[in-house]
Amino acid sequence: MTFSVHGLAVSRGIAIGRAVLVASSRADVAHYFIEAAKTVEEIARVRVSRNAVMEEIMRLQQDLPKDVPHEIAALLDVHLMLLQDEQLISGIKHWITERHYNAEWALTTQYEIIARQFDEMEDEYLRERKADLEQVVERILRHMKGVASPVQPAEQAGSSRKQSQQDLLLDDTNDVPLVLIAHDISPADMLQFKQSLFAGFATDVGGKTSHTAIVARSLDIPAVVGARSASQLIKQDDWVIIDGDAGLLIVDPSPIILAEYGFKQRQGELERQRLNRLKHTPALTLDGERIELLANIEMPNDTVGAVNVGAVGVGLFRSEFLFMGRNGKLPDENEQYLAYRKALEGMQGMPVTIRTVDIGSDKPLDKLAGRAHDGHLNPALGLRAIRWSLADPPMFLTQLRAILRAAAHGQVNLLVPMLAHVSEIRQTLALIDHARAQLDNSGTVYGPVRLGAMIEIPAAALTLPLFLKYFDFLSIGTNDLIQYTLAIDRADESVAHLYDPCHPAVLRLIADTITECNAQGKGVSVCGEMAGDVHMTRLLLGLGLRSFSMHPSQILAVKQQILRADTSKLKLWAQEVLHSEDPGALL
Ligand code: PEP
Ligand code: MG
Repeated sequence: MTFSVHGLAVSRGIAIGRAVLVASSRADVAHYFIEAAKTVEEIARVRVSRNAVMEEIMRLQQDLPKDVPHEIAALLDVHLMLLQDEQLISGIKHWITERHYNAEWALTTQYEIIARQFDEMEDEYLRERKADLEQVVERILRHMKGVASPVQPAEQAGSSRKQSQQDLLLDDTNDVPLVLIAHDISPADMLQFKQSLFAGFATDVGGKTSHTAIVARSLDIPAVVGARSASQLIKQDDWVIIDGDAGLLIVDPSPIILAEYGFKQRQGELERQRLNRLKHTPALTLDGERIELLANIEMPNDTVGAVNVGAVGVGLFRSEFLFMGRNGKLPDENEQYLAYRKALEGMQGMPVTIRTVDIGSDKPLDKLAGRAHDGHLNPALGLRAIRWSLADPPMFLTQLRAILRAAAHGQVNLLVPMLAHVSEIRQTLALIDHARAQLDNSGTVYGPVRLGAMIEIPAAALTLPLFLKYFDFLSIGTNDLIQYTLAIDRADESVAHLYDPCHPAVLRLIADTITECNAQGKGVSVCGEMAGDVHMTRLLLGLGLRSFSMHPSQILAVKQQILRADTSKLKLWAQEVLHSEDPGALL
């Protein structure tokens, strides 16, 4: 039966495909695709762990004291039975051989399917067996954790591997598009999925500018977040339409609905082709103002997409993505240097703005859920970004040296996130000097960098002279500026309706920052999601912004707005919007 689920639209377009559910209750297991040649090995991995768990239980049975209640012995029997359950075993094999899921993912997927069947049972005793199944699955997973995986997750593997994984999925799906449904996906996991060919994705939680949503947008596939109970309502292999424009999921659609959405999908494709023709058109407004369109990237390879759409540089390289999902093992100086250099080479002589690491909040180093990260109550207000870097000078110096060394190969702008205090500015600058001195002492070659600060805390926007004194350029991080001005967790779907880029207070801080920088001849750009939102382009132009940094997939649509705009007319109108009590209504 057809039903729909509402969420937040985060990445435009329509996807129609079969649901791939990432098990919610075991979200911390790795999810990646394996190579076809490794299926036997992968199945063996589960078998070895299952056998080990069975042996454990049998040993327990043998050692049970005589006076133990017989329920305990019976329970162990049930666990042994579940471990040999044909549906569990054949299901795991199916997911590994047919879909090429890694062993842990196959196990948890099959668990979800059987658990659902238990939920639907009339008999209370049988219903309660779900908890036993959960326990045996946990035991197998725990055992597997101790057994090294023969296959590395996609992001840690070499590029040739990635290629073969893509080929693999192409072969595997027989052209049936797949859509990813999950309770939540960490930004690091999202990056792994970047190598896969999902046609769309949806999560139960998350706000429009949560980092998971940002990475999803960078996949350039239709996506919906904050769809509350989608992962409960949708079953493995269900047909699902993801409407990324309306923030809507349609499950098990009727033929009429399918036809309607198929039509919309083709229309969207045509629109994309039209936009593609703007690739080589200079970004000039009607009154001849040249606008700089820069790319936001997460990995050095993303520069390919940036160059393809005509970006004239990278305005934001979120370097933290080099640090995430590595079980806490941080990239060393050389690995970072090579990554930054690769980004520079990818941009073919155009400037690259490397932001120092912004770990914390909804970008934890590892898979721990952002909100509960490290037990901090309020991670968005906690040890994040520059605070994290300044708390670990050797780690920060390593990154600074790598950036300075990369600067010998091209124009690098070094951008510092989340500064608010003069003490933080001074410490940061002192550490940059120290990194230079270290390189001098070791006789290592490095290059000059322009220094920039992100304006993403209201306190920074309200003390601009301080920032203009110490930095060469500023970059407005609207995602956080909105979060911190309005006290709205950007990753929390329950307050997403209050996350308002057009709130007069937010616009005032943005307008003043642009005006002040322009007056002093300092470079200023917007690199938050607002820069890629076509509804905001005219307003930002009217406020005097001439440099926008966004995900490559948004560049051509924003360019189209620019080509139709006349900044001399927008200036007055933008002031009207700024002084309105409901600016959003005027856009
Ligand atoms: C921002 O806050 O607007 C920004 C660009 O940084 P991030 O989204 O990575 O926090
Ligand atoms: Mg930010």
